[in-house]
Amino acid sequence: MNTILLSVIIMAGLGLFFALFLLVSYKKLSVEEDPRVKKIEEILPGANCGACGYPGCAAYAEAIVLEGAPINKCAPGGAEVVGIIGKIMGVEAEAKATPVAHLMCQGSPDVAVQRSIYIGESSCRVADFTTKGDKACTYGCLGLGDCVRVCPFNAMYMGEDNLPKIIEENCTGCGLCVEECPRDILALVPRDQKTFVACVNKDKGAISRKVCKVSCIACGLCVKKAPEGSMELRNNLAVILDYKQVDTKAEEVYEVCPTKAIELKGKFAKVNTDG
Ligand code: SF4
Ligand code: SF4
Repeated sequence: MNTILLSVIIMAGLGLFFALFLLVSYKKLSVEEDPRVKKIEEILPGANCGACGYPGCAAYAEAIVLEGAPINKCAPGGAEVVGIIGKIMGVEAEAKATPVAHLMCQGSPDVAVQRSIYIGESSCRVADFTTKGDKACTYGCLGLGDCVRVCPFNAMYMGEDNLPKIIEENCTGCGLCVEECPRDILALVPRDQKTFVACVNKDKGAISRKVCKVSCIACGLCVKKAPEGSMELRNNLAVILDYKQVDTKAEEVYEVCPTKAIELKGKFAKVNTDG
């Protein structure tokens, strides 16, 4: 009986000793968290979108306080969040103008040639990897909405023409959709840009026009119409080098394009869908 009692007392004593040891160690070794980290984390949008270049809002808050990371890297937060973080940190920074996502393809089913019926998993990435989807154009939008599903801000939806649409008021320019698209046909563009070459097909004009009525055929007419040096032809595609310059002649550049691969924001292409 005495042996049992002794064992219990020893075990209880050891338990108490280790508990006290852990408590003292915790107190001595624990690092006080800078309260500014929590404050900043609370005012960040909490979308954990990664647009700032950090794995999430908490990591970015920590980087601002502990590593002196720039305070204007949160695209969804915009100027308001930069202002509040500035007050907390006692620094000033200008909010960067946030870009907006734009689809560089107008290949809806009425203008893009369908070469097969895709019946696999409803995922652009899977379709691209397996059969290349149902369109004859292997550059264009696959229309299965991977980009829409990844947007954390409800800024995208699939339109009736089977192409993703961007709700610009909701788009924060986080770029997640751009990264997600297996065809690289979403881009972040300045919010005020009006004129686009909405095609990424790099095949020669004779080939690209066979697969889509609104493909860029690299005829160069837009380049000639745009202010000198603001556009050029590269890899069988027209490329905008200076959008502000091109926008000064937006209507003319649009009108001269025979396929209407040139897109004017908010204007529907007058495309001949017959035949
Ligand atoms: S549309 Fe794209 S860039 Fe805009 S918020 Fe959604 S995922 Fe981000
Ligand atoms: S833009 Fe890209 S991700 Fe979005 S539906 Fe088209 S192919 Fe898929």
